[in-house]
Amino acid sequence: MRPLTYSRAATVDDAIALAATSSASAFLAGGTTEVDLIRAGVSGTDHLVDINDLPLTDVADRSDGGLRIGALARMNDVARTPAVVQRYPAISRALLLGASEQLRNMASIGGNLRQRTRCAYLRDGVSPCNKREPGAGCAALEGLNRGHAILGTSEHCIATHPSDLAVALVAFDAVIQTAGPDGERAILIDDFFPLPGATPEVEHPIAPGELIVGVEVPGAPIGRCSVYVKYRDRQSYEFALVSVAAALETDDGIVTDVRLALGGVATKPWRARRAEAALVGGPADESAFRRAAATELAGADARRHNAFKVELARRAIVRALRHVLEGTRP
Ligand code: SF4
Repeated sequence: MRPLTYSRAATVDDAIALAATSSASAFLAGGTTEVDLIRAGVSGTDHLVDINDLPLTDVADRSDGGLRIGALARMNDVARTPAVVQRYPAISRALLLGASEQLRNMASIGGNLRQRTRCAYLRDGVSPCNKREPGAGCAALEGLNRGHAILGTSEHCIATHPSDLAVALVAFDAVIQTAGPDGERAILIDDFFPLPGATPEVEHPIAPGELIVGVEVPGAPIGRCSVYVKYRDRQSYEFALVSVAAALETDDGIVTDVRLALGGVATKPWRARRAEAALVGGPADESAFRRAAATELAGADARRHNAFKVELARRAIVRALRHVLEGTRP
């Protein structure tokens, strides 16, 4: 048994100070991520700082029509907040499809963004895994890689990023707000999740003792007609094989703006910029959607068991865009 100490913070400054008492501290909110990792022996945490008393649970309006979501707001609460449902239905839907009802009642927004990949080789504690032990190798490259990534991969890691919420947030250029020993920071969500490259153990730019305090979602009228579709092996309590956050604006049948992001297929929440560029200025029809999807997936690097994701992702993109165009729910 490994000893574990616990303290409870009353303020953000208090939380940062308490975290500084150990180099292996972790913040505890809903506990749905960190406790799992401690039990699995993957997390080296020896001191938990409970942050549940911090005043970070609100969803507030921004002056530009966007939202500020507190890091301790629970997934279910955010998903059912009227402003989220009306202005960013893709974010609401991604949250509702993101976990079981019980987990959504406990899991926080900050914790959701800090969750680690579900790659079984990382979590079994014994297989070669460059994330767990840099330089050890990657068992997934030649192993059971059906659920692994086809975009953004490297020869060092092909693990998929697990968060549905992050996929919807990356479509709207959300910004993650943090506070830490060196002050406050604002990190564009696309920069928050690095590609694995040669250092897959680096999963985010958060420094020791730095805490996510909120997420800013810029105002985006296009968000009102957004959707989130998710394909998985079973219809609940399962991670995505492919998911798509999509939003579209048209003028007289021509695409004037589009947002596309993919989950379940990439090593990070994947903004489909090639597809977006292919669509803007062209007709908003199924043929254009198919061409854009093919353009995005042209760079896919499939492995032995996950090649099916290429076609599944193409179809998911087309389906999501069709729903947006027709104003129908997935
Ligand atoms: Fe580890 Fe990444 Fe390879 Fe999975 S895919 S075994 S997380 S290095």
